[in-house]
Amino acid sequence: MGKGHAHSPQQVTSAHEFRPGDLLAERDTDDVSTAPGDREQTEAATGALLDELAVLQERLYAEGVGGGQRSLLLLLQGMDTSGKDGAVRRVVGSMNPAGVRITSFKKPTDEELAHDFLWRIDRALPPAGHVGVFNRSQYEDVLVVRVHDLVPESEWSTRYDRINEFERRVVDAGTHLVKVMLHISKGEQKQRLGERLEDPTKFWKYNAGDLHERTFWDDYQDAYQDALARCSTDSAPWYVVPGDRKWYRDWVLANLLVDALRDMNPTYPPADFDVAEQRRLVAALD
Ligand code: AMP
Ligand code: MG
Repeated sequence: MGKGHAHSPQQVTSAHEFRPGDLLAERDTDDVSTAPGDREQTEAATGALLDELAVLQERLYAEGVGGGQRSLLLLLQGMDTSGKDGAVRRVVGSMNPAGVRITSFKKPTDEELAHDFLWRIDRALPPAGHVGVFNRSQYEDVLVVRVHDLVPESEWSTRYDRINEFERRVVDAGTHLVKVMLHISKGEQKQRLGERLEDPTKFWKYNAGDLHERTFWDDYQDAYQDALARCSTDSAPWYVVPGDRKWYRDWVLANLLVDALRDMNPTYPPADFDVAEQRRLVAALD
């Protein structure tokens, strides 16, 4: 253990919580403070946590099959190239896909625009027993929408309270909500955009439009600051996950999910049949 002491998932989680009054600008994008060691040691520890995550997810799924109403929702936000797709692949990829619902929110379609901004979000909530993953979310409606004046301020400014009310309902209905901002530096974004241009197998990830968005970097940071501060609530807190080092990002995400699921402590449903009788019947099969 390079750091001299190990952090429990609960400690890793609380180390990265963002509370109202906190400042995003004070969060280090290359922080590795809760890592159990160097990169290699941390990756090994992440692997062990992901094994536990898979078992916990199966229990949640089984609980749902048995009639349980609970679910888990991981919501990911972050600047372009912040690693949302990579995080989904690494962390969520360890779970049984049958119990996972991943939704990527893009520029709204005409149909979505004809509805309230929460309409498409509500429809994508995970069913009982499932783990939902939002790659972008309702927060785009106070981020990109605010930065580019896609609706008037009189409208977007009401959305923080609307989001809080919505999330309270979601949590009350049995969904454990884990909201994550993957926090990268502007320099790291330049680095990642450059890497995508060096390797023909990464051209598909490159989006020239990201260069234009980058010119609004400070406006986005301000919009994130307000979204985090105004929508970090007791029932649905925000976490700011340092994103410059992918191995540390994955470590923190694995801890957040394990902490959430340990806390939920899903239970396997009891048999709804006579076990002894079924054992006799199976033993008697030819
Ligand atoms: P990507 O995640 O790289 O596939 O890009 C999705 C794009 O959709 C991003 O540029 C988002 O900002 C944009 N987007 C997502 N939600 C909204 C929204 N509610 N209004 C406008 N643009 C959005
Ligand atoms: Mg993109």
